[in-house]
Amino acid sequence: MTTTQAESLDIFGKKKSVLITNVIAHNTPVDIFIDAEETITDIGPEIRKRHRGEAEFIVDGDGALALPSLSNMHTHAAMSLLRGYADDMILQDWLAQKIWPLEAHLTADDVYWGTKLACVEMIRTGTTAFNDMYFQMESAAKAVDEAGIRAVLCYGFIDLGDAEKREHECKATEALAAHIKGMNNPRVRVAAGPHAPYTVSPEGLKWCAEFARDQQIPVHIHLSETEKEVNDCVSRHGKRPAALLDECGILTPRTIVAHGCWLDDAECALLGKRGVSVAHNPASNMKLATHRAMPYPQLAAAGANVCLGTDGCASNNNLDMFEEVKIAALLQKFFWNDPTVLPAPAALEMATTNGAKALGFGTGTLAAGAPADIILVSTRIPCNTPLHNAASNLVYACSGAAVETTICNGRVLMLDREIPGEAEILKNAAHAAAGLVKRAQNPRGN
Ligand SMILES: [Zn+2]
Repeated sequence: MTTTQAESLDIFGKKKSVLITNVIAHNTPVDIFIDAEETITDIGPEIRKRHRGEAEFIVDGDGALALPSLSNMHTHAAMSLLRGYADDMILQDWLAQKIWPLEAHLTADDVYWGTKLACVEMIRTGTTAFNDMYFQMESAAKAVDEAGIRAVLCYGFIDLGDAEKREHECKATEALAAHIKGMNNPRVRVAAGPHAPYTVSPEGLKWCAEFARDQQIPVHIHLSETEKEVNDCVSRHGKRPAALLDECGILTPRTIVAHGCWLDDAECALLGKRGVSVAHNPASNMKLATHRAMPYPQLAAAGANVCLGTDGCASNNNLDMFEEVKIAALLQKFFWNDPTVLPAPAALEMATTNGAKALGFGTGTLAAGAPADIILVSTRIPCNTPLHNAASNLVYACSGAAVETTICNGRVLMLDREIPGEAEILKNAAHAAAGLVKRAQNPRGN
């Protein structure tokens, strides 16, 4: 690229019209023009001639692949602070002995720096929208607002069948919704976040379903990650988890369920019928050995909107959606013993179009009139040489490190791999993570 650092500093995060020249989109050499109102206004071969005069900033794409930026459809962003803290353990031991005791000491400041770190990692690897569930979400909302990307944020609602707890969780959900609506930032939205059918009572699930319907907001929930939770649900409620959710009004086209490893055929059909989005989390599922892959072929055949997420950094251990796309394609082929399952173009769609459709920001496509959420992936690197097939390279050869420029809502957030303020964020996040571990190991501070 021909931009100098001085020029780049004047563009980061600014509301300016941008002309991207000499990129490849949909296998065609094109230019892209973004107006100062955050929208792609023109895309096509040689359109630079029409727009060179009016563009306030020009990015020379140098033959890069342009594609809609990726959507991470299930994560706990602030868990970036727990990256590498505990690995290679049985799921229940990992949660009870390592993760929950540490999370008990999380402060609002920790969540702020953890989410800032996550946003930098996402921008660097081509993701500009994510679906998040955690605690202290007002801090997460502030981090997302500052980072310039998009998120649907929810408070993880857990009542464990206790009426008093439930009342507290309802209030926390209402407070977060009011806070985020009050921010009046179209990039930051709220969802209802019942944690899972095994941590939330049917009363709590019903409350979340009604609240989400009244507010017309998404529902984000974990579903059937392990065989144990399915068996427990059947013995406690006499029905499988998806049927329970349906009875409580949770399953609608505004709903995103995460994992879905142990869904049976009838549940896949039900999720398809209700128009639910299902977030596949293959790296986390393999690392924690859930022993079954999400039934992608059955869900896709049933018409469910299958998308992709990384889960939190404690069980992945990164937020690189390019890596996740490859793992999804490989896991599905391996588990179903069929190399034709989840071909590259479909895997890429999971991470772009399908995720964007579930989040409802109108992103996920490179077309005139669409929001300008665009990434440029270098073709001057080994993983994109030769370029027989762009979708194949993007899914099977490239990682997020191949992303060189990231744009969200028409604002340039990374240019030539430079993200302003990154070093400071890494320093503060590492400091927060060290403080968190210290407090957890020595809670009385002596
Ligand atoms: Zn999760």
